[in-house]
Amino acid sequence: MAVVSLRNVGKVYPPTAKDGASVTAIDAVSLDVEAGDIYGIIGYSGAGKSTLVRLVNALERSTSGEIWVNGQNIAALRERELRRVRLGIGMIFQQFNLLGSRTVARNVAYPLEVAGYPKEQRAARVAELLDFVGLSDKAGSFPDQLSGGQKQRVGIARALATQPSILLADEATSALDPETTHEVLALLKRVNAEFGVTIIVITHEMDVIQTIATKVAVMDQGRVIERGPVFDVFSNPQAAASARFVSTVVKGVPSAAELAVLRERHAGRIVTLTFRDSAVDQKAVFGELSTAGVAFEVVYGGINEIQGRPFGHLTLALTGADAVIDQVLDHIRTLTTVTEVR
Ligand code: ADP
Repeated sequence: MAVVSLRNVGKVYPPTAKDGASVTAIDAVSLDVEAGDIYGIIGYSGAGKSTLVRLVNALERSTSGEIWVNGQNIAALRERELRRVRLGIGMIFQQFNLLGSRTVARNVAYPLEVAGYPKEQRAARVAELLDFVGLSDKAGSFPDQLSGGQKQRVGIARALATQPSILLADEATSALDPETTHEVLALLKRVNAEFGVTIIVITHEMDVIQTIATKVAVMDQGRVIERGPVFDVFSNPQAAASARFVSTVVKGVPSAAELAVLRERHAGRIVTLTFRDSAVDQKAVFGELSTAGVAFEVVYGGINEIQGRPFGHLTLALTGADAVIDQVLDHIRTLTTVTEVR
């Protein structure tokens, strides 16, 4: 079941006094996020990712289309009705957005106060949430006494306070170092697994998608240009902009400049092979080369794991008679993609 479903959604910002042109931030986007998904939305700066999130939690109104959240078309709701919808959606931010004058416990309690929970219930819920994010001992601390990772854990506890079914994370780890990023991502995975919360992650960091997302949508100029399971989009991107993005994490295909360096350093023919899942058996590929008597050396590339499935590229320098190499490459082409730039 889709918990968030966008149908032909558009968002046009009116012309600003400065340049007099309107901006189409979201252009005819249709997207389904199923219950339990960790759905990544990626794209370059200005692609429309943040606008999309602000539409889903009704911080902004769309200019066209339908936005179904938990079975309700929020594009058609009035402001008073939207407040109830927002209670079902938690949000975490790049800059954490904690209230500096409130303790950790009172930050987490804030949405419960707004929603009118009685005092005793608030205290019990705050204690439970701080325990979940591992910050019970910081209940009385103020935000500026915490590290970035701790602040984001408070942000997560606060976002979960009213037991939302959806959590929106807008660049939630972009201000954190890599180690802290992985701690926060592990916590988000627990939120998803233990509470069944559907998570939408907006990020420009492909690593984040690779670590936690199950599905991904690539945005470019207000449109969703590609979507699907993370493994599929990463291992076989269809759109040029997705391919550019993916190449930043799935390293292994040498650039033209790198190829030139490889050619200088290595005798023989330089060939890049793609290994995708268990569909391509490395043993079979290397077996073919050995049997044909072609000497090979791995000179570039690597194998990544995306959701437990191996994927990557290896570039080899092959030495031997040209005719023999041609023949063996023809065999290998029946097993996998072979790229040779001569
Ligand atoms: P992203 O999150 O992918 O970086 P945004 O959603 O922030 O992209 O922006 C998408 C486009 O909409 C950009 O061209 C941006 O300048 C424009 N935009 C965003 N917010 C506003 C606004 N409040 N008023 C006018 N234009 C905006």
